[in-house]
Amino acid sequence: MSEEWITERLHDHYAQSLRVDELLYDSKTERQRLKVFQNGTFGRILTLDDVMQTTEGDNFIYHEMLTHVPILAHGAAKRVLIVGGGDGGMARAALDHASVEHVTMVEIDGGVVEFSKEYLPMLSRGAFDDPRLELIIADGAEFMKTTEGGYDVIIIDSTDPIGPGEVLFTDHFYGHAKRALAPNGILVTQNGVPFMQGDELTGTMRAFKTLFADATCYLATVPTYAGGPMAFGWGTDGDARDVPLDVLRGRFDAAELDTGYYTPEVHQGAFALPPYVSNLIP
Ligand code: SAM
Repeated sequence: MSEEWITERLHDHYAQSLRVDELLYDSKTERQRLKVFQNGTFGRILTLDDVMQTTEGDNFIYHEMLTHVPILAHGAAKRVLIVGGGDGGMARAALDHASVEHVTMVEIDGGVVEFSKEYLPMLSRGAFDDPRLELIIADGAEFMKTTEGGYDVIIIDSTDPIGPGEVLFTDHFYGHAKRALAPNGILVTQNGVPFMQGDELTGTMRAFKTLFADATCYLATVPTYAGGPMAFGWGTDGDARDVPLDVLRGRFDAAELDTGYYTPEVHQGAFALPPYVSNLIP
């Protein structure tokens, strides 16, 4: 039997292929082509429109770094908003913080949620049944226009700026997100792999520079987001980025988190940017 591979063609001149050891699901939701397949290296893999979304094997890096960094830096985050995150992994990581009292998750495609509950339960690990979670099926851009806000941390866990995700990379959206933050709140974003998608990071940072006193990004390497370290946009008017290491360590220890990537030292080091990335920030 010939080997089957799925090739991600997110970039014009670079692609990655993963072997399909077993195709578990392949169907269109109302918005996106949704596939899950088993891969010998990464376990179960979710793609939307043949673009890597998350994998059983390396999702912990991405979910830990987009939740623990802003929540532990903030120090008193009680209300968290997640835009996207249909697989439930981000909600899981945010809810692992006992100090977090409420997580609102706004996902545009209910099919991704229902599907992920069945095929990727190892990512949400009960998050969808947590009474602190409020799941809203809606366009995150529309939600952000009308929400009463008051969020201590807002996490944009979206697809790339193609298809339904495109609106989540606009100045208007960021402006509404800023308004939805509580005082000293923190906005963090999935901002692609700078070596491959530098323009996306520049666009987000340009908007953040007009909105926030502290606008930058931080990095983590997620193997299946190919092309080098991934950038996470960071915007806040507070001084959360300056939390001393010993304070971060105290908060991390008190949170009793089981992590595979995050440590307070990794947290601080993630903000040290190499010139090829810092040069992308206006
Ligand atoms: N970790 C992935 C990445 O970095 O590309 C993202 C994973 S998560 C599956 C992305 C989610 O964003 C999908 O479930 C998709 O349906 C959702 N999404 C895309 N556009 C959206 C929008 N405008 N509002 C809310 N959710 C959206």
